[in-house]
Amino acid sequence: MLAIDIGGTKIAIAAVTADGTISHQTQVPTLRGTDGDATFAPLCEGLAKIISEAGLTGPLRVGIGSAGPIDSPGGWISPVNIGAWREYPIVAKVAEAVRDAAGSPPTVGLAQDGHCMALGEHWLGAGKDLHSMVGMVLSTGVGAGAVINDRLFGGLTGNAVLLGHISVNAWGDECVCGGHGCVEMYARGPAMVEAAKAKGWTGGDDAEALTAAARTGDEIAIAVIDDGMRALAAGIAATATLLDVTHFVLGGGVSKAGAVIFDPLRKHIAEFATMSYVADLEVRPAELENAGLLGAAALALTLEAQ
Ligand SMILES: [Zn+2]
Repeated sequence: MLAIDIGGTKIAIAAVTADGTISHQTQVPTLRGTDGDATFAPLCEGLAKIISEAGLTGPLRVGIGSAGPIDSPGGWISPVNIGAWREYPIVAKVAEAVRDAAGSPPTVGLAQDGHCMALGEHWLGAGKDLHSMVGMVLSTGVGAGAVINDRLFGGLTGNAVLLGHISVNAWGDECVCGGHGCVEMYARGPAMVEAAKAKGWTGGDDAEALTAAARTGDEIAIAVIDDGMRALAAGIAATATLLDVTHFVLGGGVSKAGAVIFDPLRKHIAEFATMSYVADLEVRPAELENAGLLGAAALALTLEAQ
């Protein structure tokens, strides 16, 4: 099967076997233009290259993971960070490209990148012993997806469990999404860096510098991370309480800082996850480097071949 992971700077394409082994992989740049089909051209070439190198023929299964918003049933994507694609019919375009290269029309599935991360970790990573879990990505944003009873919980349009944009402060400032007091406004890496700078921290410009400072005992860094993780903890507890799920897997660049992120997060979760059925809420570090790509493969695995 084929897996495609669409990000704001690059697109990964891989041939993956049924046991999760990546046999062939390539990467193409995400172009910055305004022409949708011109932005698709490198992906089209990458697909032909992988299909040829892996010697794939016949009806293939293809999983696509993409930054949101997306519409899974409609087969289109409008990634915030890829301006050329607005309601772009990615499923039809990929189906056409794969048909031309492999000789038969494929079956194509589409999921949001947070959903693919959850699928990947559930299949081969930190959640492989679990039937139900929420996967989360903490980096420049907060993405998430849920696997319930071994199946992706997509929602009506494929955008379920958008944890970063649930409100944890109904009286908070306006978010880029138009809501107020969203988790992402406090917990995403750049938000914590900005909060630290506002308090006089001058130790750097990114979350890596901030978490490094916290590790050496910098009081401002520790305080703003504690605030950010309190917001994320409230969002996690709300999600656990709504979905009746007790296992969370946290990945993404900021989470790689380890204990300086996980310790305050777990401390605050205990304050919010108070219902008896979520009292054992557990947050595990993600294990996979390419959970999004493997999750797209997991999605392909669930599709019926035509
Ligand atoms: Zn928001």
